[in-house]
Amino acid sequence: MDSFPKRILEADHKLSGARAAVTGAKEATATGVAERKKLEFEVQQWKDRARKYRDQSGAVKTNEAYKALQHEITNAEAEVAKAEDRQLEVMMASEEAERRVRNTEANLREDEQAINAEKKKIQLLNTEKKKELDAALSERERVIAPVPQDMRDLYERIAKRHHGTALAQARDEQCRGCGMRVLPHILQMLRDDANEEVYRCESCGLILYTLEPIPAPSPDGSGSAASASTSS
Ligand SMILES: [Zn+2]
Repeated sequence: MDSFPKRILEADHKLSGARAAVTGAKEATATGVAERKKLEFEVQQWKDRARKYRDQSGAVKTNEAYKALQHEITNAEAEVAKAEDRQLEVMMASEEAERRVRNTEANLREDEQAINAEKKKIQLLNTEKKKELDAALSERERVIAPVPQDMRDLYERIAKRHHGTALAQARDEQCRGCGMRVLPHILQMLRDDANEEVYRCESCGLILYTLEPIPAPSPDGSGSAASASTSS
């Protein structure tokens, strides 16, 4: 459950790439529109200039002035042609940019659907796990009800230091929490049903318990009284 908020964030994060692609494509179309306007203005300017020179050419007195005007007209017409060529390029680029906007928007919608489905799945899983957790917690409450409060406090304190584990089995004369040797007299006490004392591993501090049976009677008949009594 702890990982779910992070997973939802990660899912959202996946969308930022698709969103950035849409933004980039939209910016490119906006740039294209501005460029087209600029070029339209330029074309008009050069056309106006050419017209002005043409109008003037009827009124010139010298051949030289006429030639100079002709030169200006040719130049202005060449600029018109150049600007129109660039207009065409910009228009083609704009169409491409608009296609990119449509494509990136479609991708974003697809990603959003997938991410929403994933988020829903995570939320459902969260609800399910929360239910399991609540059930486990109330089961735990029920189980520990007979345990005295000071013992619970001790358990909580140790568990906090050991990633939720407060108990360690003593087996083969070893603490299974850390591998340290458990002294025989402690093992003896752990095996004693009448013992109410809590023993903790001297090395790791976990509360020791044992499931070890009382040693089985040896073949020659010697053995503990407890096992002897259950053998028949
Ligand atoms: Zn230990």
